Amino acid sequence: MIEAYKKMYTKLEDLPSKYITAKQVVNLKSLGIDTIYDLIYYFPRAYDNRSNVKNIGDLTFNEYVVVKASVMSVLNMPNRSGKKIVKAMITDGTGIMEVLWFGMPYISKSLKVGEEYIFIGQTKKSNLFQFINPEYKLYKGQEKETAKEILPIYSSNKSITQNNLRKIIKKFLENFLKYFEENIPNDLVKGYKEIFERTQAIKNIHFPESVQAIEAANLRFATEELLILELGILKNRFIVDSLNTKKYEIEGKKEKVKKFLELLPFELTRAQKKVIKEIYDEISDGKIVNRLVQGDVGSGKTAVATVMLIYMAENGYQGALMAPTEILANQHYLGMKERLEKIGLRVGLLTSSIKGKKKTEILEAIANGDIDIVIGTHSLIEDNVVFKKLGLIVIDEQHRFGVNQRNKLREKGFLGNLLVMTATPIPRSLALSIYGDLDLSIIDELPPGRTPIKTKWIANDKDLSIMYDFIYKKVNSGNQAYFVAPLIETSDKMALKSVDKVSEEIERRFSDKKIGIIHGKMKAKEKDEVMLKFKNKEYDILIATTVIEVGIDVPASTIMTIYNAERFGLSALHQLRGRVGRGSKQSYCFLISDSTTENSKQRLSIMEKTEDGFIIAEEDLKLRNSGEIFGLRQSGFSDLKFIDIIYDSKTIKDVRDLCIAYLKKNKGKIKNEFLKYDIERKFSDLQSGN
Ligand code: ADP
Ligand code: MG
Repeated sequence: MIEAYKKMYTKLEDLPSKYITAKQVVNLKSLGIDTIYDLIYYFPRAYDNRSNVKNIGDLTFNEYVVVKASVMSVLNMPNRSGKKIVKAMITDGTGIMEVLWFGMPYISKSLKVGEEYIFIGQTKKSNLFQFINPEYKLYKGQEKETAKEILPIYSSNKSITQNNLRKIIKKFLENFLKYFEENIPNDLVKGYKEIFERTQAIKNIHFPESVQAIEAANLRFATEELLILELGILKNRFIVDSLNTKKYEIEGKKEKVKKFLELLPFELTRAQKKVIKEIYDEISDGKIVNRLVQGDVGSGKTAVATVMLIYMAENGYQGALMAPTEILANQHYLGMKERLEKIGLRVGLLTSSIKGKKKTEILEAIANGDIDIVIGTHSLIEDNVVFKKLGLIVIDEQHRFGVNQRNKLREKGFLGNLLVMTATPIPRSLALSIYGDLDLSIIDELPPGRTPIKTKWIANDKDLSIMYDFIYKKVNSGNQAYFVAPLIETSDKMALKSVDKVSEEIERRFSDKKIGIIHGKMKAKEKDEVMLKFKNKEYDILIATTVIEVGIDVPASTIMTIYNAERFGLSALHQLRGRVGRGSKQSYCFLISDSTTENSKQRLSIMEKTEDGFIIAEEDLKLRNSGEIFGLRQSGFSDLKFIDIIYDSKTIKDVRDLCIAYLKKNKGKIKNEFLKYDIERKFSDLQSGN
């Protein structure tokens, strides 16, 4: 049966010419259609349904509609990546809509302000309802809309007309729909909403019987694409899970952990304790730990990681902590070394600037078990790093590492225990799905006694000069300040602040203060020295690039100033700001930007309004193309066609729950052979980067 099923991937050029001509094959290729499957799954991007013109005031999200409205304004603008966008505002008296066309600059010439048009598209929502790349036609008042039929509108190009596409697709539905066997097992969606069968859905998405049928078909395909993705991500976990107890035994000594906690200058928060307990419990059961520890910037992930490393070490297993930068590895090393040695553990550091004899010594110590805990960078992944008995791997700030690097380190483990610490600003629902193969612990609380950071957007020279005076006074009274610029050297091409430029200015304004500079082109050793001096208050001011973005912890610094703030993404701004506000003193963040674009305005005012990483993450997702978000593309979540990862988080969760229930029942096995095949195919595509 599966052999017949695979026929849906027959190449169009291999079909007899009674189904398709050679010329049509070429034309369809230009639309990215190569196989029967591609063609049948080439769904309309809109429907021409003139009997159903809707008022803007009555629109809902994600519906296929026809709107009759007049153009208020047309604007031609480049976006951040230089792609041309035409933006029009339209109104029909009941409301206003925004219409965007990407990469079609000529449209701005053909649209006339004041004229009435018919727009056909799918509604998207930003602040206003939007159409993206809709069809449009000049409305000629006399037109009487009588057509009952709902016609599909496909994305197309000059080589092939809508009518031709419709005809070819009709013919294919008649001849090849039989290959498209049902791939959603009944018992998987039992208790879920009623959904269309596959062939019924395919027919209705192309040539719908009614508007309701389009929606029902959409639900079916949304479910289908999510199922394939989620089952693929989750299934390994259930195969492992069913075997995952009593993998090893651990004595459970906690002496050193206790001593360490006494040495800490603070008490762990409730959230830190909760997460530590979650991990303890798994280890006590002899389970292989495979866990994402998510916590906002400054929530104290390091302490959680350290406790677990100590626990494993005192029970006979080595630990490794891998950080994304040398600065951060060094900071962890210096921050932990003293206390760990006090409780009788041996700590080592391994980074790429450790070479020669020193490196050989450390490698030997790791191999023969003389080092209990090794802290390092990517260097830890190298083949020559061999552990005697590695029991726990911690990866800090995981969004800098790819999945392959994660696995490579894991393979060195005696036990595969893995903790991934991340502040990756993504909403919880999404984290659960993307990191579906990991369990999730959340540190949902910041240490007490932190004063909220005051954030101000500095948009003009007057405010700028007030800001400098303010910072001067603060530094004079013993505060430390960061100044961050987007570039190292000044370049003629861009009117951006560079570390060069900033340091001239700062040296002039703060001539009696001690100033350090740090950037990515410096040697690791130089960077460490600068960081150490700043930490020890030998510098009042640190001028930096984003090398300090992640993880840097100097609790005494209270001022963060960011030049050209519009150049940074929300998550980078959030990370940078997270460098201050780490102690009990009032901290300040200044975002300097004279940008006047709508996007900059929205982003900078979100920064002024909130410090909550999850809210910022959600806003960030709304303002950006989700494909830009790190980790999302590789996860397969960015190319979902029927799901909007922001607005459909409920559906994502529902389908995920269905998948978990199904996998539990079937011990990780996929019973429907068609579905199984689809999953394998999807994931071999993802891995090969298609
Ligand atoms: P992140 O989660 O961003 O990695 P860190 O682990 O660097 O955060 O911790 C941020 C700061 O908070 C550090 O200075 C750390 O010493 C401090 N800290 C961690 N846990 C606590 C706590 N329970 N109480 C007070 N301060 C804490
Ligand atoms: Mg950290």
